[in-house]
Amino acid sequence: MVLYTPGSSSSYPDDPPEEGIRFHFLGGAGEVGNVGCIIEDSDRNRVLIDYGLAPTKPPRYPSESPPVKHAIMTHAHIDHIGMAPWLATYGTLLHGTHLTAAVSDIMWSDTYKVSDIEGYPLAWDKRDMEVALDSWMPHQFGEWFTVGDWNCRLHPAGHIPGAAMIEIKTPQATILWTGDLDTRDSPNAPRAMPVDCDILCMEGTYGGRTHPNREEEEGRFVSRVQEVVSRGGTALIPAFASGRGQDILRILHKEAPGLDVHYDGMGTRVTREWLGCPEFIRDPRAMESAYRWARRVTGKSDRKKALRADVIVTTSGMLDGGPALWYLNRLRHDGSNAILLTGYQAEGSGGRRLLETGRLPIFGNQTRIPLEIDKFELSNHADHPSLCKFARECDPSHVVLFHADEGATKAIEADLAVETKVYLPSNNETLEILN
Ligand SMILES: [Zn+2]
Repeated sequence: MVLYTPGSSSSYPDDPPEEGIRFHFLGGAGEVGNVGCIIEDSDRNRVLIDYGLAPTKPPRYPSESPPVKHAIMTHAHIDHIGMAPWLATYGTLLHGTHLTAAVSDIMWSDTYKVSDIEGYPLAWDKRDMEVALDSWMPHQFGEWFTVGDWNCRLHPAGHIPGAAMIEIKTPQATILWTGDLDTRDSPNAPRAMPVDCDILCMEGTYGGRTHPNREEEEGRFVSRVQEVVSRGGTALIPAFASGRGQDILRILHKEAPGLDVHYDGMGTRVTREWLGCPEFIRDPRAMESAYRWARRVTGKSDRKKALRADVIVTTSGMLDGGPALWYLNRLRHDGSNAILLTGYQAEGSGGRRLLETGRLPIFGNQTRIPLEIDKFELSNHADHPSLCKFARECDPSHVVLFHADEGATKAIEADLAVETKVYLPSNNETLEILN
């Protein structure tokens, strides 16, 4: 695969917009993840929001960014920050919350490691990563900072601890960029609240869909775990390292403290960073107790012991690697065990293949997994009714939808377009909005 080199493949126009605000998506328009967007005004004030990659096989990358002095990262998921080390080329300053900055090291190191193991080229190297780590300008929520003539501040976005919405006050308009958004409290992240703005750039992952009641779904999940344990089985819970795994620990610790829960994989390191930034966590003491309550797996002998546990919470959340596959390869021989999926299983991921075919590639072999599999909707994104309610409460004149497939954005457009101008941008095309 040919990767871009600076200056060779940018789709970005040379001149600033004559008037109004320009939004130019390098990725993340009409697709989930892979986000990167340049915002610029006629006075050459310019910022890059997020620079991620889609961790598919092979990964998808956003287009090349033009030179930027400032980039603002909404949160530490790889589809939002995965390409940020490449910005070392420009010496770009990275703004974000303290927690996003703290977790970025783990996420980037893992991306580097995975690309090495899988043999996928990456556009940045370890030195770029070191430069990027030194480029962070961390901010607390509500603290103003400047990008050229613009005043910016971060607000809680729900989703995961440290995830931020970005308010940008330009001389012409106030912009709110939601990043990944949840308007409900989750076990670990306090909800997003609406912010008055002229232009709302909103994620739309769950456009057209409604979540089941969160409490009921958590209840169904806990009962399922207990059923598996009471028949003598182990529940394997593949969970993302940054967000879902910690939510699972909180739920189980609260609802079923008698369980023997083992916690393995990258999530353990991410949680330690969380505990170092307690101001971003909803009830940080409860998170700390849940973390101490779970048995952390730190080596091979711990891993063998975990095979006799009631519950194993581990990465990767989509069964694409990590300790989850090591466990699954052993647990598959006993039909009393079960796999409980708690997150989105992307097209082409191990988890999706398991659901569709009952098989999974383990260490190169297509392996049949004759275990019970159940799926739970514990999403940390707002659903359709919540997104539309949020948008109305921000009271914008313009809404730009991204981070969603076409069906989802169309559903939101149908709902909001009566009262507001709604835009469905495309990657590598320029959208100019005159307020
Ligand atoms: Zn996210």
